[in-house]
Amino acid sequence: MKAVIALGGNALTGKDRKTDIKLQFETTRNTAKSIAKMIKNGWHIVITHGNGPQIGSLLLQQKKAMHEIPSMPLHVLGALTQGQIGYIIQQCLLNEFKKQGIKREVVTIITQVIVDEKDPAFKKPTKPIGPVYNDKEANEMKKSYVMGRVENGWRILVPSPKPISIVESKIIKKLIEENVIVIAAGGGGIPVVRKNGILEGKDAVIDKDLASQKLANEIGADILLILTDVDYVYLNYGKENEIEIREAKVEEIEKYYREGHFPPGSMGPKIEAAINFIKNGGKEAIITSIDKAWEAIEGRAGTHIF
Ligand code: ADP
Ligand code: MG
Repeated sequence: MKAVIALGGNALTGKDRKTDIKLQFETTRNTAKSIAKMIKNGWHIVITHGNGPQIGSLLLQQKKAMHEIPSMPLHVLGALTQGQIGYIIQQCLLNEFKKQGIKREVVTIITQVIVDEKDPAFKKPTKPIGPVYNDKEANEMKKSYVMGRVENGWRILVPSPKPISIVESKIIKKLIEENVIVIAAGGGGIPVVRKNGILEGKDAVIDKDLASQKLANEIGADILLILTDVDYVYLNYGKENEIEIREAKVEEIEKYYREGHFPPGSMGPKIEAAINFIKNGGKEAIITSIDKAWEAIEGRAGTHIF
């Protein structure tokens, strides 16, 4: 079985998206245990992940140090976070494999993702990155960044163009077919445009769920497993009449999407990724929490879309 596992923010950092390094290792260690179960069952696996909190922290560090050290643009920060998070996941997985006697290699691929220079997203930042700020902090931040409201405060917003294709998908496919566990398309991949055949980085952050779907289809994955902080996708989420979706066909999910059950920036892109994955030849998309991952694979939990 070939699967792409997309790790959400809470698989790598705490609920408040703080980037304390001890917490990142602790959280990732727990995630590694979950993933080891699938690996034990002989799956070919690509792990993708978000980078919102980490790239936000790096952006602020650039700003604070700009008078002493040249600032790095967002696309370079994207590469830095792929290296940093890839390292943490690699080490946590290898340590868990050692404990369980699993003999598999793990590698992180710095991944570039083609976007369209004319994507309207470049003119309208929508993607939240960095920590959550209170009203007072946000007012100060508004001088330098576009700030947007989130559930419990404010976050920096950056452009989020649609992924078109994954530059490194061929080598990723080769590696997983060799049984190597690959960490790729971290943070949704580094956004690049191709001009007359030449690649060039762009200052934006691609949605990791949409990039994961592109990669999953390009490598011919059977399953797209999106791990987040809810056990199920719900209808009427957060309301009194909320109800979990256990199984749904694409047409059914598309109808719920149109009815507005899945907001942009959180559940929306996961649903869009699931729909696109199936329409482009994928067998099944599963959305669930890290803790329920294995149960979901066995069909006992999670939202299954096919
Ligand atoms: P991740 O870091 O995993 O991408 P997000 O915060 O982007 O996490 O998305 C997951 C969140 O989506 C959940 O924590 C939940 O608050 C929110 N959400 C919005 N609508 C729904 C829904 N219909 N069903 C379940 N969760 C939903
Ligand atoms: Mg998200």
